[in-house]
Amino acid sequence: MPIANDLRQRLYPQLPAIAEHFGTPFHLYDETGIRATVAGLHAAFAGVAGFKEYYAVKALPNPRILALLRELGCGFDCSSIAELVLARQAGARGEEIMFTSNNTSPEEFAVAAQDGGCILNLDDISLVAKVPQMPELVCFRYNPGAERSGNSIIGTPLEAKYGVPHHQLLDAFRAAQARGARRFGLHTMLASNERDHRYMVQTVEMLLSVAAWVQTELGIRLEFLNMGGGLGIPYQPDDEAFDVAALGQQAQALLEDFRTRHDHAPALHMESGRYVTGPHGVLVTRAINRKDSYRTYIGVDACMSALMRPGMYGAYHHIDVVGKAASTADAPVDVVGSLCENNDKFAVQRPLPPVEDGDLLVIHDTGAHGHAMGFNYNGKLRPQELLLRSDGSVARIRRAETLQDYFATLDFAAQEWQP
Ligand SMILES: *Cc1c(COP(=O)(O)O)cnc(C)c1O
Repeated sequence: MPIANDLRQRLYPQLPAIAEHFGTPFHLYDETGIRATVAGLHAAFAGVAGFKEYYAVKALPNPRILALLRELGCGFDCSSIAELVLARQAGARGEEIMFTSNNTSPEEFAVAAQDGGCILNLDDISLVAKVPQMPELVCFRYNPGAERSGNSIIGTPLEAKYGVPHHQLLDAFRAAQARGARRFGLHTMLASNERDHRYMVQTVEMLLSVAAWVQTELGIRLEFLNMGGGLGIPYQPDDEAFDVAALGQQAQALLEDFRTRHDHAPALHMESGRYVTGPHGVLVTRAINRKDSYRTYIGVDACMSALMRPGMYGAYHHIDVVGKAASTADAPVDVVGSLCENNDKFAVQRPLPPVEDGDLLVIHDTGAHGHAMGFNYNGKLRPQELLLRSDGSVARIRRAETLQDYFATLDFAAQEWQP
């Protein structure tokens, strides 16, 4: 179930006019869909005290999207200085921001502490001594090692650079306590694009058993557990959607059970990116060339600078040709950009209706890890971003990059330096 039929119906009749006005290519995000998904998430966890979604800013770091998410009650998960700045520009402060960095630098610690600080999520025991001023509330990212298998995308925790290993976790809490921390949380992030809610239920179960262990060993009552992000979305037409209601119900039951046995229960946090905005973005690009060689290539005016996932992971993104219905007679084509890399393909041997120069192609599910992952290799520029508002109007929320942007960091009159 790539992008909702509802979005197709609202968007496609208007798309030629939008493309005419703004020019192609562009990512377009759907306010209505984002609102509905966040409402669904909150409904699923309505029975969980203290539930909070910290939107993973790296998925779609656009201030207008972040402002919308904040209005809907989300906090932000940041892992760089730029993301902290964006979260604060959106108005988030203190415990509405989680800073999940790894290999953290002194500059990052300094910015994390500014403007009322944030929830510091420490990635390693060695960082406890490096926090310039230990905040009252601190969290650790937990890596369960051999105790969990991770999912197929993110790989085995034993090989992941992230998180505090099991055998150092108690010492990490002790060390933070010795430096003055008084309130504690626990975080983990084990899955990516996981569509089976049972995996996330197991993660909550795992965090609760660690919380019980920490309480028994150290007398520390964890204030919150953060199950990470990684909830999957259906990229392929016959993929099933993640059952967020089932996750909410089962998480609630686990927390209630914990409460009866321990006389309190931690709040539950989540930091999804993809699940919240992924299905509510599309990359709209125009066909500009058709090449019939050993295969048929449809050349479009966007390239992998706008969307890395197909080239980087072989990821599937569904494609519609606007105004042309798919049929069983469709012949397979490769949909390609102009970058000098043979993996610059949005689709490989994909059956599509006959595409002619000038046709608009809609590449689905680009609302997370799309524009944000873009890059400038080969001098390719990143496209503009548009927002389809719930009132039907369209706003440009990021302009396209220009050659001036590309050249902006170059120093044409280089200052020589001799050691
Ligand atoms: C990337 C990331 C997320 C978001 O992942 P999604 O797959 O978009 O949900 C959340 N937390 C951390 C620490 C991440 O690195």
